[in-house]
Amino acid sequence: MKIKQIHSLFLECNSVCTDTRKIKKDDIFFALKGDNFDGNAYAEQAIKKGAKYVVIDEAEYKTSVNTILVNDVLETLQKLASFHRKFLNVPIIALTGSNGKTTTKELINAVLSQKYKTTATRGNLNNHIGVPLTLLSMNSNTEIGIVEMGANHQKEIEFLCKIATPNYGYITNFGKAHLEGFGGVEGVIKGKSEMYDYLITSNETIFVNHQDPIQVKKTNKAKRFVFGNKTHADVIVEFIDAQPFVVCKYNNLKIKSQLIGDYNFNNIAAAITIGNYFNVEDSAIKTAVENYTPTNNRSQIIEKDTNKIILDAYNANPTSMHAALINFEKYTGFKIAILGDMFELGKDAKQEHQEITDLAISLNIDTVILVGENFYKSGSNSKIVIQYKTFLDFKNEFNFTQIKNATLLIKGSRGMALERVLEII
Ligand code: ATP
Ligand code: MG
Repeated sequence: MKIKQIHSLFLECNSVCTDTRKIKKDDIFFALKGDNFDGNAYAEQAIKKGAKYVVIDEAEYKTSVNTILVNDVLETLQKLASFHRKFLNVPIIALTGSNGKTTTKELINAVLSQKYKTTATRGNLNNHIGVPLTLLSMNSNTEIGIVEMGANHQKEIEFLCKIATPNYGYITNFGKAHLEGFGGVEGVIKGKSEMYDYLITSNETIFVNHQDPIQVKKTNKAKRFVFGNKTHADVIVEFIDAQPFVVCKYNNLKIKSQLIGDYNFNNIAAAITIGNYFNVEDSAIKTAVENYTPTNNRSQIIEKDTNKIILDAYNANPTSMHAALINFEKYTGFKIAILGDMFELGKDAKQEHQEITDLAISLNIDTVILVGENFYKSGSNSKIVIQYKTFLDFKNEFNFTQIKNATLLIKGSRGMALERVLEII
């Protein structure tokens, strides 16, 4: 069946579903294959649960009704998204970067939805499956689309840009994340810049943080809209402080966010800038930023008994770990940093963990607890450092009752799931 035909069937449906546990009536089910499952096997169940069509690539799983048999379900999903994108007459803003994509995406969505009907990436669905799903969740009511794009190797952003054909783009930062797949920091810059390459070639607009010299240099010849704290930027957003929440100034308005950490200033400034570009009223921009609260263990502040916890256990890499520690130093009182391993660093893992260990020791922090195989190997003579090879060792060996009247920073890669600490203290 041609993509065009599949597209007309798709338009009859409610939404795209890839998980039969979440199916809604009149969805179209795409039977994707994962490492541990084959969606084809769930096709019949999808129909029983109300799916209008099922897209499969194994003929033996043909359902009694409404089967769309294709060569490759994933490729069909991507091609359908690409076709749908051309069919939609919607400006799309694409976002990538090493850190802060989801936060920035949510802030932009909060700001733009003050004036427009927006459709944005749900949660963190930012890969070769998530981006197509995001595009397919847009319809004729959508006025602006906001698409998060994640990558851990070269050519991934190029591929996602070809599907989403964005009209605007923003790169949050070039940091030390996924070093293994990208091949070092230079590789990260090259890989993320595939978005710039796409936007420059198609003469589309790039939002640029004036404070980031790489962004400024790379977009030298691009159509760009610049923000910064300097008079020659298109939009001026000034940092006031982050104690603990980021406060900034924009067009004489003081905006008090509910986000901690200096690093969130850039995320907020980008959202304000994009709101400005799309003519969202200043007061509406202020309301949107001030009302936004982070979820999913991203820089959340939790008060538990006598302790204040900065829960940043959603993920970690050298750049965000560095930013979080520098920010943590500013807190007063007895401070304990609980840091978990940073993954996907390849041959740089040893050195990067050592650098974070050294940094943590050098800062004004009272106790540094390092958890994970990589951190366990870090060298340290400091009395303030305690190392555990696994989370289980930490859980069993550490005396948690001593954590009282303290401020804690909890941060590690997703696989470390350090939010488990909350269940113990
Ligand atoms: P993922 O790669 O998982 O999609 P992401 O880029 O979407 O991550 P977020 O989920 O927004 O990033 O934020 C994750 C963490 O990154 C935050 O909790 C914070 O510690 C850190 N972070 C956020 N913004 C920045 C930034 N601009 N610079 C450095 N670190 C940041
Ligand atoms: Mg994300």
